[in-house]
Amino acid sequence: MPICFDLDGTLGHFGGGYVLLRQALGRLWGGVPTEPELRACTGSTDWEIIGQLHANRFGAPMDEAAYAHYEAACLGAFEAAFTPAQPAPVAFPGLLAAVTALADAGHPIWVVSGNAPRVLAFKAERLGIDPRARRLGSLPTLDRAGLLRQAMRGCPGPHLYLGDRPHDRQAADAAGLPFIGVGDAVPGDHPRLTPEAEAAEVVAAVLRVMARSAGSPG
Ligand SMILES: [Mg+2]
Repeated sequence: MPICFDLDGTLGHFGGGYVLLRQALGRLWGGVPTEPELRACTGSTDWEIIGQLHANRFGAPMDEAAYAHYEAACLGAFEAAFTPAQPAPVAFPGLLAAVTALADAGHPIWVVSGNAPRVLAFKAERLGIDPRARRLGSLPTLDRAGLLRQAMRGCPGPHLYLGDRPHDRQAADAAGLPFIGVGDAVPGDHPRLTPEAEAAEVVAAVLRVMARSAGSPG
């Protein structure tokens, strides 16, 4: 019964990450995507977003080799910006401690994120996410709901997704998972936690939702 967490905005954040993504694309493609181009992107994973920007710029779909080039450039930008000597990303300590507590209790944990896999690995390490949490970053052809389905594959329910954005709730709905919102940016009737929530509060909310979900038909 995987408990899946989004990363950015759910377990912490890398303030200037968006700027770094644009800079990486600028170096790679010889031009930075404009704000309107970025705003026009639908989807919430790097495969989807970078694919749309690639199609806009080059008039052709992005292939896996081009995605790998983007991933390497983006990872390089993050490694350069977030060295051990420079300011650390902002961690949400209660949520991170809850990941550890839930792993201690034997729950399978996944970090399911729209970041390309190597960027996700870098961020997970820099945020200090418990290494028992398996990481599933943005893979070719999959949207976020597809990533959630992949994390759930072969595991009995109940499952759960915690995220901070409307696209997280939409993906949970599409994949048939209950949802907990972190922060107040996601409209809907799901339970909510603040980024400042303490670990015990997070664990209690997770167990409550999973117990309710285990007891409901279907
Ligand atoms: Mg997020």
